[in-house]
Amino acid sequence: MNKIEHIGIAVKSLKDSNDLFAKLFGEPHYKIEEVASEGVNTSFFQVGENKIELLEATKDDSPIAKFIAKKGEGIHHIAFDVDDIEAEIKRLKQEGFIVLNETPKQGADNKLVAFLHPKSSNGVLIELCQEIKSNLKK
Ligand code: ZN
Repeated sequence: MNKIEHIGIAVKSLKDSNDLFAKLFGEPHYKIEEVASEGVNTSFFQVGENKIELLEATKDDSPIAKFIAKKGEGIHHIAFDVDDIEAEIKRLKQEGFIVLNETPKQGADNKLVAFLHPKSSNGVLIELCQEIKSNLKK
């Protein structure tokens, strides 16, 4: 794993939280992106070298809606940048981690993503993400 790619925060209202976090960081979000397959709307903030992702549910059975119903708003996941997501999935499975989706899926911000079950990582939902090279998209 390389570095923390971003930290994901579950929010009830992307609009309200975009305003709040823009005040906090002194800069507005730089993009909004819906990930329909996950039932989420996301926004991204650049804070120095780091990124913060806000996540809002777009439907009742979205993982974010379930998270907020159970735990309230707050830190939802920590995402780590990896060079080869398939190799990392294989390695982490061998180490005993529970991988929620063994086939990487398309996430926000032009990434292939996979999640580790928080049960296997001390209650922290871990996201692996690998940048999709633009030549693969065509
Ligand atoms: Zn994320």
